[in-house]
Amino acid sequence: MQITEIYKSIQGESTYAGLPCVFVRLTGCNLRCSWCDSEYTFYGGHRMTRDEICEEVERLSPGSGLVEITGGEPMLQEHEVVPLMLSLLNAGHTVLLETSGERPLQTVPEGVIKIVDVKCPHSGEADSFRLENLQALHPHDEVKFVLSDRTDYEFARDFVARHSLARRVKAVLFSPAFRKQASGARDASQALLDPQELAEWMLADEVSARLGLQLHKFIWDPAAKGV
Ligand code: SF4
Repeated sequence: MQITEIYKSIQGESTYAGLPCVFVRLTGCNLRCSWCDSEYTFYGGHRMTRDEICEEVERLSPGSGLVEITGGEPMLQEHEVVPLMLSLLNAGHTVLLETSGERPLQTVPEGVIKIVDVKCPHSGEADSFRLENLQALHPHDEVKFVLSDRTDYEFARDFVARHSLARRVKAVLFSPAFRKQASGARDASQALLDPQELAEWMLADEVSARLGLQLHKFIWDPAAKGV
């Protein structure tokens, strides 16, 4: 498997936010989101076997901790990442998979908690989500929308209603996008969409979603990698 980095940090973007988590970041992505903060994952990385990855996860988090498989787009390496997720589950870990949902998700092991990042118009990758993947969602999964403006918000609001998302999954998350070149200030001034404005829209429309802030952007420099 081609791996960019494996590290331990704080989960920042789901109902697991705030918990210690080992991140296994796979190399490569087939999308190019306008606000992507993980472009360093597009190329490079190094080969690691499934056993080597499991050993490193065990070293960082002995026993049964939280592990997030992320990228890039992990499902581009489906044939290797699916057995890895099974191994981590069998070792007793709680396994999260962060994915755009552009690749088929039917082969993801049932015990894995998918955090599906449906792309909105401002990302430049709207309509990349594969609608068949709605059938692969389980009640423990989460669906996230990263929002830059009112157009993104309305897209997400309407998508949630059209597909009854709140009834399908554990949580629907609306999260402001951060500036691509954000650096220095660890506050909401770095967000493309003011969280207060987003909160007011969500309250006015009574949207069945949870407002999320990318916790790690407030703990570390928003430009920091490996956190
Ligand atoms: S899917 Fe993720 S890694 Fe790929 S371009 Fe979009 S934000 Fe970046």
